[in-house]
Amino acid sequence: MKEMKKASIITMILLGLTFMVNAQQKEESTSQKVILITLDGFRWQELFSGIDEELLNHEKYTSIQEELKKSFWRNNSKDRREVLMPFVWRTIAQIGQIHGNRDFGSQVNLTNKHWFSYPGYNEILSGNADDERIDSNSKTPNPNTTVLEIVNEDSRYKGKVAAFTSWDVFPFIINESRSGVPVNAGFELASGNDLTKNEQYLNKLQKVTPSPWSTVRLDVFTHHYALEYLKKEESNLVYISYGETDDFAHNGDYDAYIKSANTTDNFIKELWNFTENNSFYKGKTTFIITTDHGRGTSPLDTWRDHGSDIVGANEVWLMMFGYGVKPQGEITTTKKLYSNQIAATIANILGVNINNAGQPFDID
Ligand SMILES: [Zn+2]
Repeated sequence: MKEMKKASIITMILLGLTFMVNAQQKEESTSQKVILITLDGFRWQELFSGIDEELLNHEKYTSIQEELKKSFWRNNSKDRREVLMPFVWRTIAQIGQIHGNRDFGSQVNLTNKHWFSYPGYNEILSGNADDERIDSNSKTPNPNTTVLEIVNEDSRYKGKVAAFTSWDVFPFIINESRSGVPVNAGFELASGNDLTKNEQYLNKLQKVTPSPWSTVRLDVFTHHYALEYLKKEESNLVYISYGETDDFAHNGDYDAYIKSANTTDNFIKELWNFTENNSFYKGKTTFIITTDHGRGTSPLDTWRDHGSDIVGANEVWLMMFGYGVKPQGEITTTKKLYSNQIAATIANILGVNINNAGQPFDID
């Protein structure tokens, strides 16, 4: 009898301790923030080696060769990549992790079999390829639940999740109407009664700026709408999807593809500097950056394309830095990661459960 009493008291103490630890973990996790960023169809080849010599010297693909050469050609690949993406190689390489340099055996792969955008974004955001149902880029509401929706469903994060995307299919990929996650996509303007001066000005400019494409706006708008939102709304999970790199590549415009990647590097720097100088985000924000698919390399013309018939279009890359990420720099060991692990990694950082998704990355 005495022994049993002792045992039950110990059990109660242990239960109490577990409860306290759980409560503490929950409280801690609500102060974490994640910014997820994608660069549509940006190749690992340029990320890790800078601009491509053959494409630079190709008259059809590079229209002002002297200018591109002066700005971005250097004799070795380390200098070339650094001049193309200075924030990535001077800062992220110091404070974070950069995966996917296949020259060293570091691989990041898609698990979906389609190798184009909707399946890629569905895999990243939901953690599950779902090849049967997600097999086109059409504006069909996603039957899968994304990590954005899961986080937004959690009472601790309700209304603290948002997405800003250049491509106008995202309201369907994120299933805006079901999830309640606000998605500012395509040519949408900033809306609401409390627009900042910058948002009003962005609205004015976007209305009168022609985009080269009918379904994708220029990334400068997506970026600045997102940045204004981060300043205005204290958010826990924001997704920013830049689109230009894919569309300039489809157009066969290597100059613009390269300049866009360089500009986006600077956008990422601007986001990082903002979070580091804002007391709500500083020291509590994790950045995860990736792409929805790769592109071809050989034959040369396949750089413009992707899809299951393009060799290498399943080869992607991944960067992580900020809160909780162990600085490992460029990964130069053989290691395989998959895009279907990203959703669970975000869920893990924010302390929410996700089912039917790839394993979270071991970031620390
Ligand atoms: Zn594409």
